Amino acid sequence: IQSILMQELDLFKEQISSASSKKIIITTHHKPDADALGSSLALAGYLKKKNHQVTVVSPSDYPSFLHWMEGNDEVVNFEDPEKEKEARNLIAQAEMIFCLDFSNLGRLQGMEQVVRDAKAYKVNIDHHQDPEDFADFSFCSPKAAATCELLYDLIVKVGDRELIDKDIAECLYSGIMTDTGGFRHPNTTKNVHLVTAELIELGADNSKIARLIYDTYSVNRLKFLGFALTRRLTILPELNTAYFGVSKKDLRKYQSQTGDTEGLVNYALSLDGIKIAALFTERKDGVKISFRSSEDVAVNKFAATFFNGGGHKNASGGISKLSLEETINRFEKLVKENKHILFNQLELIDEK
Ligand code: 5GP
Ligand code: MN
Repeated sequence: IQSILMQELDLFKEQISSASSKKIIITTHHKPDADALGSSLALAGYLKKKNHQVTVVSPSDYPSFLHWMEGNDEVVNFEDPEKEKEARNLIAQAEMIFCLDFSNLGRLQGMEQVVRDAKAYKVNIDHHQDPEDFADFSFCSPKAAATCELLYDLIVKVGDRELIDKDIAECLYSGIMTDTGGFRHPNTTKNVHLVTAELIELGADNSKIARLIYDTYSVNRLKFLGFALTRRLTILPELNTAYFGVSKKDLRKYQSQTGDTEGLVNYALSLDGIKIAALFTERKDGVKISFRSSEDVAVNKFAATFFNGGGHKNASGGISKLSLEETINRFEKLVKENKHILFNQLELIDEK
């Protein structure tokens, strides 16, 4: 799905050749999801087999339903005060830095500057739109459903398919499964199914992975979901829009952990007639926003124009420095004002 010049590929192959062991850092976006962490740990497993000294540095913590992945225990969390110094040194001294599942260095948040300043040979593997041109080697395509899909294709292109073991295959499978919404979104292409089939052949236990990621809620998380569905959901039928607004206090009440709001926004989109869904979560550094839309509506430009964000056509996000209430009011106003653009020629729901 991503075409590159043979020359470029040869250069990259040379860079990762097992002939000389390199100090390599792999990183991904802040608050990694399954595609971000899965691709990072899969790549780490692969590059270790090629005799490199590899460390995965995450800009933050990530949900516990990803902790089962092979290599999780060695991940360095940049936001852990006891690890920050070590992480900075590792990044500054690295010979290669891989940036996975993001292509704007701003998504590293506190880690942005140290990665920007690093002298290492930089590689970007990603499937987001409008990449920033910071890497020495890029393997990026917005047509890919997941970074894990791209990484699989890259490893095969390099000629190393046989280095993909069960652990690596399971990390890759996870990212493809979640970024396609469990093989439901329009990005679930023929190539997705072909790659997935290969990963199962290479040992990925697909049913186990689905259970570990989707069916391992804490009691608090499930109760929080019930609370959000009954008390925090607003439906605007005339705008084909539904959203959740979750405050810091709500999160505290349900002892919310990283990852507990994951997937919540999809419940708003599951309503018949709803084309735009949003989740507003009050965090310490502002209101984090998740947008989702049905196939005929694009939310990425909306997120980029008004909420300092971006992402994919039907799944994007952003941030607001206003209060939760002000953010939501602004959102409603903007959807109203831009509905002709957002919905194109969409028929609005008849309220009757
Ligand atoms: P989520 O709602 O799951 O946090 O994010 C969905 C998608 O939106 C992500 O895969 C990412 O592409 C994009 N996204 C989320 N937050 C941001 C953001 O702050 N900036 C940009 N550029 N993209 C974001
Ligand atoms: Mn992804």
